[in-house]
Amino acid sequence: MIRRVDVDDLCTKLAQRGYRVAPYHAGMTAEDRKESQDKFIAEEVDIIVATVAFGMGIDKPNVRVVIHTGMPKSLEHYQQESGRAGRDGLEAECCLFYSGGDYGIWKSILRKVESEEAREIALSKLNAMYSYCTGVTCRHRALVNYFGQDLDEASCGACDVCLGDLDSIEDSTEVAQKILSCVVRLRERFGADYTASVLKGSRDRRILDRGHDALSTYGLLADVGKGTTRDWIEQLVGQGSLEKVGDYNVLHVTEVGWRVLREKRRSGCSVLRGGLSRRPRWRPMRGRASIAVCSRRCEPCARTSLRAGTSPPTLCSAMRRSAIWHGVVPPRWRPSCRCVV
Ligand SMILES: [Zn+2]
Repeated sequence: MIRRVDVDDLCTKLAQRGYRVAPYHAGMTAEDRKESQDKFIAEEVDIIVATVAFGMGIDKPNVRVVIHTGMPKSLEHYQQESGRAGRDGLEAECCLFYSGGDYGIWKSILRKVESEEAREIALSKLNAMYSYCTGVTCRHRALVNYFGQDLDEASCGACDVCLGDLDSIEDSTEVAQKILSCVVRLRERFGADYTASVLKGSRDRRILDRGHDALSTYGLLADVGKGTTRDWIEQLVGQGSLEKVGDYNVLHVTEVGWRVLREKRRSGCSVLRGGLSRRPRWRPMRGRASIAVCSRRCEPCARTSLRAGTSPPTLCSAMRRSAIWHGVVPPRWRPSCRCVV
């Protein structure tokens, strides 16, 4: 999933814009990889653009920013990778860009795992990762809970959820019910894109031919963009109200989803408008900052993130990518498990 060619591509573009940058991926020779790593450690470059192959053996304490331009396949991986930020205990930031597409790609890869038991475990870890992205629980709390620990404080005061940066919509439950209801009316036989088109009231030939323009849920979300509805559907998947089934990722309503459908307004279901509502508390970087970028393909997002003081999600939302963000992770909140599966 994490393509080497994208590392090279992003690296080239960042270098063209004047950043001191080095690549790192498994396709390079051991010598070249060591050279990149040494340059990063010696601060001859400020940014390392890398696949997950990077950094297993190094412990550079003063990494200030870790940016994921795609979703990792598990929280174990995310923890290990984002945990490279701020090991010196000073301020550090982590930003993760994700999309429903990431989930789909990982799912198709993990389906090929031969052992049924290993496949089930990998898919459940993937679901946990996606829930983390689309969830509305404090990022630090969600992480430590996943690793079997707890966060005593009511708020971490350092993530997009706790800082109120998420733009949740007022009628979340109602919107969720409209979407879930549409999935039911479509007899749980269609995917997210088609469902979003029906909710949008699309005049697509496929919809008209099947008579889905006569459904009571047709056009229920006509006043919002299809991309937004698509994003909400992904969030409902991440929150466990919907699941994607089979090779075609057909949407099914889960037990949780049925509870949301049956309940009145206060079901506790939250749908977010899409990532951060205003720019995160990014501060201008003083001097040279060491930045590790786990890169895949979202070069513009990473580029924007690097311009301190600008808002990555602005560009990101145009690409239907959402962002989650957390600031410095106090060492005491870091889960003790740092294994990489
Ligand atoms: Zn928090």
